[in-house]
Amino acid sequence: MAGKTLNPDWGPQTLAVHAGEGVDPTTRASSPNLVMSSTFAPDEVAGFSARNRTGYEGFSYARLSNPTVAQLETKVAAMEGGEACQAYASGMAASHALLAGRLSQGDHLVISDTNYVGTAELVRDSLPRFGIEVSLVDTSDLDQVAAHIRPQTKMVWIETPANPIMRLSDISAVAALAHHMGVRDVAVDSTFASPAATRPLDLGADFVVHSLTKYIGGHGDAMGGAVIGRKEDLDALNLEATVHYGGVLSPFNAWLILRGAATFPLRMKAHQETAMAVAQFLEAHPAVKAVHYPGLPSHPQHELACRQMKNFSGMMTFQTNDTGDAIAERMVGDLEVIHYAVSLGHHRSLIYWIPTDMLMASTFRLQPEAQARYRSFAGDGVFRFSIGIEDADDICADLQRVLG
Ligand SMILES: *Cc1c(COP(=O)(O)O)cnc(C)c1O
Repeated sequence: MAGKTLNPDWGPQTLAVHAGEGVDPTTRASSPNLVMSSTFAPDEVAGFSARNRTGYEGFSYARLSNPTVAQLETKVAAMEGGEACQAYASGMAASHALLAGRLSQGDHLVISDTNYVGTAELVRDSLPRFGIEVSLVDTSDLDQVAAHIRPQTKMVWIETPANPIMRLSDISAVAALAHHMGVRDVAVDSTFASPAATRPLDLGADFVVHSLTKYIGGHGDAMGGAVIGRKEDLDALNLEATVHYGGVLSPFNAWLILRGAATFPLRMKAHQETAMAVAQFLEAHPAVKAVHYPGLPSHPQHELACRQMKNFSGMMTFQTNDTGDAIAERMVGDLEVIHYAVSLGHHRSLIYWIPTDMLMASTFRLQPEAQARYRSFAGDGVFRFSIGIEDADDICADLQRVLG
């Protein structure tokens, strides 16, 4: 039956191709069907409210569930080794659903002080309006995490490697510490690492968040997000944060992401191989001051990267000796292979200049001490670079053209 195919003994490449898929019993279609129907005609009288549907397993309305989306959810849960997955319209819809669905007035959140800009602004600007207290912490430092946990702390949220400076956090150590201190939820935004590198649930996390827009979809043509975790927790989240907040994934996007996800393990091998070659080229380039790539021995947490990441992924940042503003200008006009654009994890290489002052003023707003730590990675700014799966020589030639 479609959506049910799953053998837990399969390897990651087989899972990526087959999990959640299967021959359609009616048409014998080998590839997943795209079911766009927003409503479904049940063969029994079923409850109307999401809270009043006990026992009914079928589809009723696409905000509650949809067959194509359900196939993707089965696949992504399998890739992360999780019991259940809930898909959302974007990574931010997934992050919001998890934060707002699990935290209430009076609860306290400990979260990385450096992370994806959308998440950073959501927890700084929106959550406090609902009475949720937030502490911004360098989660690569266990002592800092411990110092900020209090009885009201319901969640510790880490992002590793963290946008945009590629700072890692030790998932098993943070999860063990947080749980030991009585924290209910440890959530990991694993978008940069991807399940090819790290499976946070295996390391003790309770939830994993992905922007499916990035590596899992992989082709830059469909936004999506996902939360993966225990079935019991996801069922509860589904009732409120999916059905009532309503940020569900379009079946068409689910269908595109399903297709992208099938080649995910192969793409990640290519991303890593190309990224390593490009990182070495940049590290040797006279115009480049520093390269932060977890796969390079020069990364300050390379030892942790080797322990925690089975694939170093395709994300890196680098700093130049000359100001990045002028180089970014040249990139907009002169790059031939790499696109000067935000986003990441696509088959196509993407690069973007992120000046530290702008980030501090608009998004991170770090205190002097935390700002100094950020600047120790980022200096005046970094080029955030998502290495695609083109030939490394062509990417390097493109960089040579703009670095001078
Ligand atoms: C892109 C991204 C998000 C947000 O995902 P969208 O699909 O753009 O909403 C969240 N976290 C990280 C680490 C990201 O890179």
